[in-house]
Amino acid sequence: ILRLTDIHRSYNVGTEVETEVLHGISLSLQPAEFVALKGPSGSGKSTLLNIIGLLERPTSGTLEIAGQPTGSLDDAGLTQLRGATIGFVFQFHHLLPAFTALENVLLPSIIAHGTATLDAEANARELLARVGLKGAEYKRPGELSGGMQQRVAIARALSLRPRLILADEPTGNLDTVSADEVFGLLREFNRDHGSACLIVTHDPRLAARCDRIIELVDGRLVAG
Ligand code: ATP
Ligand code: MG
Repeated sequence: ILRLTDIHRSYNVGTEVETEVLHGISLSLQPAEFVALKGPSGSGKSTLLNIIGLLERPTSGTLEIAGQPTGSLDDAGLTQLRGATIGFVFQFHHLLPAFTALENVLLPSIIAHGTATLDAEANARELLARVGLKGAEYKRPGELSGGMQQRVAIARALSLRPRLILADEPTGNLDTVSADEVFGLLREFNRDHGSACLIVTHDPRLAARCDRIIELVDGRLVAG
């Protein structure tokens, strides 16, 4: 589902302060694989996830998602591929505060299809129920706890049934019980739908529940 070959990423290219933060990352994920990514702060985990999530472009190297090389795609092509294959969960939930939980979960469908169909709404309601938020459909993020907000964010990330889920410290701000719950939801979706998952986590307990652990140190993958 994912193949990276010799990915480099530099910031401030061509200036005096040019710095390379990823020094040639090669990595593959099989369909349905559930992989933890760990590493010290500043080692490049978020940069790597943003590149895989097609939110940032690498400076060099190749990235294939679902068999499709991404190098020659323009921004519209990247957006389309992202919508069709990737669900992204951020550390901070990034929900839209003025919208209800249900509307937040419907957003990807609206962005992808220009409208929320009845099917999309039924699917969004089902996902909210599945993450334990039945009854909270019309609440706004400000009325929900941190764990509940993160569960809305997960329902949103899963709403288009992505084949690849990317999660950047999705449980970083949560207490242990909420963290376990949120992690469990991703694991369950992985099991039920065969979506591959790459999850950044500093929590060794959660990493131990993944199929494989990879570690990034100073912009290089080390044996994990
Ligand atoms: P953390 O565990 O703290 O989230 P991380 O492993 O996710 O860290 P990144 O956020 O990927 O690390 O950052 C890697 C390096 O790239 C850091 O040195 C950071 O300062 C640098 N960096 C990230 N984004 C930019 C940017 N937009 N411009 C310049 N440097 C950046
Ligand atoms: Mg980070």
